Amino acid sequence: MNIPSNYKGLPDGGDSNDTFVLLKAALDSSVSGIIVTDNKQPDNPIIYCNKSFQHITGYRYEEIIGHNCRFLQGDDREQPERLQLKEAIMKGEHINLEIRNYTKSGELFWNELYVSPIKNANGEVTHFIGVQHDVSRRKKAEEELRHERDMIERKVKERTKELKMSQEYLDSIVQTVRESLIVIEPDLKVQTVNEHFLRTFKVSRVETIDQELYKLGNGQWNIPRLKEMLEDILPTNNPVLDFEVEHNFPHIGKKLMLVNAYRVELEGQYKDRILLAIEDITERRAIEQRKDDFLSVASHELKTPLTTVKAYVQVMERMMHPESTPQFKSVVSKAGSELLRLNKLISELLDVSRLQSGRADINREPFDLNAVVKDVAEGLQTATTTHQIKIEGHIDQPYNGDESQLRQVVSNLISNAIKYSPDATSVEIFLSQVSTFIKVSVTDHGLGISLNDKKKIFERFYRASNIQKHFPGMGIGLYVCEQIIKHHGGDLWVDTEEGKGSTFSFTLPLKNEGDN
Ligand code: ADP
Repeated sequence: MNIPSNYKGLPDGGDSNDTFVLLKAALDSSVSGIIVTDNKQPDNPIIYCNKSFQHITGYRYEEIIGHNCRFLQGDDREQPERLQLKEAIMKGEHINLEIRNYTKSGELFWNELYVSPIKNANGEVTHFIGVQHDVSRRKKAEEELRHERDMIERKVKERTKELKMSQEYLDSIVQTVRESLIVIEPDLKVQTVNEHFLRTFKVSRVETIDQELYKLGNGQWNIPRLKEMLEDILPTNNPVLDFEVEHNFPHIGKKLMLVNAYRVELEGQYKDRILLAIEDITERRAIEQRKDDFLSVASHELKTPLTTVKAYVQVMERMMHPESTPQFKSVVSKAGSELLRLNKLISELLDVSRLQSGRADINREPFDLNAVVKDVAEGLQTATTTHQIKIEGHIDQPYNGDESQLRQVVSNLISNAIKYSPDATSVEIFLSQVSTFIKVSVTDHGLGISLNDKKKIFERFYRASNIQKHFPGMGIGLYVCEQIIKHHGGDLWVDTEEGKGSTFSFTLPLKNEGDN
């Protein structure tokens, strides 16, 4: 047993050797590192250390005794805690601090140190007792926690900045968009509006924000059908698309507005808000109307002199001298066929304006669609030498519809099939009865239609871009066909593959609405 030679007895001291041994054993079994320094000797050397101290520091007993505690700090001298410790020892005071220490192998450990002075009867500090714990693990956890917190704070700051920027970015888009935008809360109160809305409806932000949509500007948005649709958006998520509102709006007069409404949700926030995008289409509609009116007037105006010229040419044909030159006969005949072509074009334009204005009545009468298809096909067959028009299938009962209009549909589809398959040699027509519908299909093996054009070919005046220059036409035929079929309660569509060909089909219900 190594008892320090200068040991003067334990402070609270048992004076028997047994007590000493017992106390020493108690100190050695402590998990805390314990040292005693002698303040009376120069440089306050360590005169005792227990086993735990040796274990924590990695130094052996004989490497510790006689040293001042500072060896534990190695070269890490700049720690402020060192000064505090020094000051407390000088003043003979108690101190508790955490200080960076190093083991014999140079490994850092955090030492939670309690230093207490021991005084003699005269009040002089004779010894210091140091109790230490290696709190490196706790320190490391604290450090990691701090690091984590710093990182989170930094991320939060960055994210906030990003959000602010994207908010500003979105705001600037919303404010510059040339459409009125308005966001309403689930209780239908206005949450935000953009500048365009305020300018269009000549209202102020104050009289709009937080107001119920239906109470805005004399209840101008209190439209039962719109209300119904808006109430449907939140539970079903169905947007309101292209809803037209014609209204005499305060400040701006009678306007036609196109409303689109969507439920908006942003990353779980702002749930159940509704965004209304409102477009003023009054002007656009008026221009479209003027164009339609012009078309209608122009085709009517053209039709009258044309009919007269046609009559003159017929008279010329009749009055032609039998001995007229073949050249003259050919010119008159060409004039006649060109007039027929012109007449057809003008009739198509008149069809469009009739359909546009809703003046195209259907005169329903039962007729044999097989016969009509056969008749049209035969007529077109005489005009083509390139294609063989084949008919397959049969419809077993008469159809009750407008024969002349449906003749036009069949004629348009077969003419197109021939026109848009210049390198093919046949066009097939298929007639059938499907359930309570009749079905007519016209198949060609020609150019086919691209996906993009397919969506638009039924619009009036639309022609696929690749064919415009090579084939004559005005882009009216399919529009007229679709309208006629729709008015009969049927459906017209195309199955097509670019470069392979197309099949245009229509169905017509055998039972008309209202039939039993
Ligand atoms: P038009 O033939 O006078 O252009 P239509 O309304 O009949 O007008 O047809 C519109 C467009 O649809 C055509 O310009 C053409 O691009 C396309 N189209 C119609 N029928 C066919 C077909 N059978 N094959 C390929 N394209 C077709």
